[in-house]
Amino acid sequence: MSRRLDSPFGKDAPSIEAATDACAYCPNLCLHACPVTTATGRTTEAPWALMTLTRWVATGDCAASPDVRRALGACTACGACTEACIHHVPVAATLQRARDLLHRRLGPDAQSRTPAIPAEAVGAPIPAGASGIPLWLSGDMVAFTSIARAAASRWQGRSRLLFDDHADLVCVRDLYPMIDAAVNASLVLTSLDAMSSSPPIPAGVVGYLPPCTATARLAMARTASHGSYVASLESWLGYAPALLRWDETGTCCGAAEPFHTQEPAAARAMAERVLQNARDRGIDVLVVLSASCATHLADVATATQSNTRPIRVFWPGGPHQTEALG
Ligand code: SF4
Ligand code: SF4
Repeated sequence: MSRRLDSPFGKDAPSIEAATDACAYCPNLCLHACPVTTATGRTTEAPWALMTLTRWVATGDCAASPDVRRALGACTACGACTEACIHHVPVAATLQRARDLLHRRLGPDAQSRTPAIPAEAVGAPIPAGASGIPLWLSGDMVAFTSIARAAASRWQGRSRLLFDDHADLVCVRDLYPMIDAAVNASLVLTSLDAMSSSPPIPAGVVGYLPPCTATARLAMARTASHGSYVASLESWLGYAPALLRWDETGTCCGAAEPFHTQEPAAARAMAERVLQNARDRGIDVLVVLSASCATHLADVATATQSNTRPIRVFWPGGPHQTEALG
């Protein structure tokens, strides 16, 4: 009898097992790409380790449990491993699917610390997380679908939606249509909107951290393209900022929910690594276009300001502008 018959993943086990085939024979070649592993030094959270655990569940060699679900949550879904894998394994998508299947198998997580979804005031920018993206990333598709459809219904009739966080914008653009919750409005980032109204240009060497959420985590295998954002920044600044990127998807600072709430120490270490990378490049001001990333990085910059070279985190979000001295 095939062990798959006993797999907690049920009929989805073969596809999950197939997605992890290459990893089973790979010497951990994407280890260097994972921002969680490089920041914490814990190889138990490397893409290879999470894919191996996923494979064991798929083959029935490991039981589904809250501990397994939590272990697979040590991933921001940034997609850096997907970009780095020479075998083109869709790691981030496979891990998200595995979390989804575990949620379906185990039911709601009583220990879940997925943050509450904020609701925006009418006409105000949509706050980070309000699209339900933390629930999608956690794999709780039932809750995500409910939140997303309610939000889409609330936003019907609006011609323009302003988002504080890029992940929410991409969620509404790419994921909502997949659950019949399409929104017929132009989708705009608060920070880009603010730049067009010419907020003060920060003094010093300006660097730019692209959102790792751009397309990698939601659009799976597509290569991220930040060209239009960089062009907007250049137009605002009048010159090209220093680009802070380690790969095509950018560098994940650990702000993504629910990862940020569930793995606070790792999230802080990831932010410290991003900030140190910026300092090493001589950057004085780090421009970040997503609210949650800017807030997280600013918090860490402030907390570490006594023993490092100061660096400012700047979110050109108009009245919601975040600026911190670290
Ligand atoms: S994702 Fe690719 S590089 Fe990473 S362990 Fe799997 S096969 Fe190897
Ligand atoms: S998606 Fe990002 S955080 Fe998750 S395993 Fe891959 S590189 Fe690590």
